[in-house]
Amino acid sequence: MASGATHEQIGAVVNKIQSFGLDANVSRGTERIVIGAIGDEQKLDPEMFDALAGVEYSMHVVKQYKIVSRESHKHDSIIDIGETRIGGNQVQVIGGPCSVETQEQMDTAAEQVSSAGCTLMRGGAFKPRTSPYTFQGNGEEGLRMFRKAADKYNLGIVTELMDARMLDTFLKYDVDVIQIGTRSMQNFELLKEVGRINKPVILKRGMSATVSEWLMAAEYIAAGGNHNIIFCERGIRTFETAYRNVMDVTCIPVLKKETHLPVIVDPSHAGGKAWMVPALARAAVAAGADGLLVEMHPNPCEAWCDADQALNPTEFQSLMGSLKGIAEAIGRTL
Ligand code: PEP
Ligand code: MN
Repeated sequence: MASGATHEQIGAVVNKIQSFGLDANVSRGTERIVIGAIGDEQKLDPEMFDALAGVEYSMHVVKQYKIVSRESHKHDSIIDIGETRIGGNQVQVIGGPCSVETQEQMDTAAEQVSSAGCTLMRGGAFKPRTSPYTFQGNGEEGLRMFRKAADKYNLGIVTELMDARMLDTFLKYDVDVIQIGTRSMQNFELLKEVGRINKPVILKRGMSATVSEWLMAAEYIAAGGNHNIIFCERGIRTFETAYRNVMDVTCIPVLKKETHLPVIVDPSHAGGKAWMVPALARAAVAAGADGLLVEMHPNPCEAWCDADQALNPTEFQSLMGSLKGIAEAIGRTL
């Protein structure tokens, strides 16, 4: 309460708390009065109190994310994707092009991703492009090409869902992991839809989202019953313009403390240039990431999307080798 709050104003706050079925605890200090609400805090919101006379400030004490929080589940969760597991001792690398272009490109990329030692492949069939005039992805035809190429090498497929109306189509092609992109992290209706199914979801961090907003976005998915969620840091916007985004390494240990769910990192969209990717990827693994999402193209110069940041197959293969050493140095495998 604000200093000088009257007896009536304190009473009004207490009554409001009690009217929602919670107990109110009034703690009188020498300068301030603090009123605590005890019970199911979900029923209350700070906005309900901030406008009352005599109230200085109100806040939730208990975290708003529950299912995804480490408090609710002490051990690390492992997400099963076929025979691949994300969140266990093994660091998983998901490689592949930014977008699905042609059958030949996908067949070649699948062979290269597989021979580098990966069991999951990435590729977008529906692309969230800044300009409506650039390539928007091959849509359903892209999913078909992706599935066909991946099946030849027994790879699981990771691809972005932008529109809940395409969910049935994603299920039809048996997409193994649904990616929610940075631009959709707070598309709450989309989050609720993927919460209703049990497919693993990679939830990319909104480019300007705080860790807490990101955790709440995951809670939207979890609240629907789908707990197969993997966080993916992909770089955030800052004042720096020398690279595409800033890879927030700090969020890795912070998320590991706050949630039991796996955390992976996309160094490609963070740096935005292929030459930066190996250094960023190694930093992410050293900091405890459970995996990486890396753009790799059979011929980066010809990529239809994000050509600058794609590794070529040789670079990708050598990155895998150097990551192995780092994973082993921190007691993990690759
Ligand atoms: C992608 O992974 O292809 C992509 C579009 O990433 P982001 O949503 O992080 O920009
Ligand atoms: Mn991309």
